[in-house]
Amino acid sequence: MTKKAVIEVEHLTKTFGKNDVLKDISATVNEGQVICLVGPSGAGKSTFLRCLNMLDQPSAGHVLFEGTDLTALSEDQLDQLREKMGMVFQQFNLFPHMNIIENIKLAPLKVKNSSDDEATAKGKRLLAQVGLSDKAQEFPASLSGGQQQRVAIARALAMNPEVMLFDEPTSALDPEMVGEVLKVMQDLAHKGMTMVVVTHEMGFAKSVADEVWFMADGYIQEQASPRDFFERPQTERAQDFLAKIL
Ligand code: ADP
Ligand code: MG
Repeated sequence: MTKKAVIEVEHLTKTFGKNDVLKDISATVNEGQVICLVGPSGAGKSTFLRCLNMLDQPSAGHVLFEGTDLTALSEDQLDQLREKMGMVFQQFNLFPHMNIIENIKLAPLKVKNSSDDEATAKGKRLLAQVGLSDKAQEFPASLSGGQQQRVAIARALAMNPEVMLFDEPTSALDPEMVGEVLKVMQDLAHKGMTMVVVTHEMGFAKSVADEVWFMADGYIQEQASPRDFFERPQTERAQDFLAKIL
């Protein structure tokens, strides 16, 4: 099987004022791959993820999505491509005044011109996929954090993204709810979704990632299989990081 590059990052740098957050990053995400991006707090993981869909504008370098250079596009063109990149944040950001199915239908109705029936049917399918079929008519406030995050994942999937970007999706959850969200993500990975996941859940990285990328000091310091990364970290930086968290 030939590997198809979905995201190609070329010499990406990102500077905030005098803070060189991303210094020179080149990396490729292939179709169907699950990348877990790990590293200490402040390493630039969120900034990197936000540069992948241009929520943060790179200071230099290029990000290609399916061969198209995102850094060369107008805002309108970018909006269209962003639809193909679902994003899930630490905070679920559901619309509190809309019930669950309305939350999921909103973007397909507005942006994709789906019919109401179509959007509802798809929303119900996605709710079943994340194990929340019985919650369609509830409002976000009546759901637990883990349930809300599963809705946020369903909402992102409603746009038929080709890639899913996750930024610490379980970090805001009570411990007992982490597993149910990771399970949904694992199912998605097994269905072949291309995913970039910033996470501190090393168990998830070990069992689901195809590659672990370790980011520190503005660089991706290591790119390895989970097995190699966790058993034989090459850099002192990664050895220190793992010693602290494992
Ligand atoms: P991580 O997600 O690995 O914890 P971040 O990407 O959030 O790291 O942050 C990396 C660095 O970039 C930090 O020093 C942070 O203060 C800085 N930073 C992130 N976003 C901004 C911003 N919008 N403006 C200024 N500095 C920022
Ligand atoms: Mg972050």
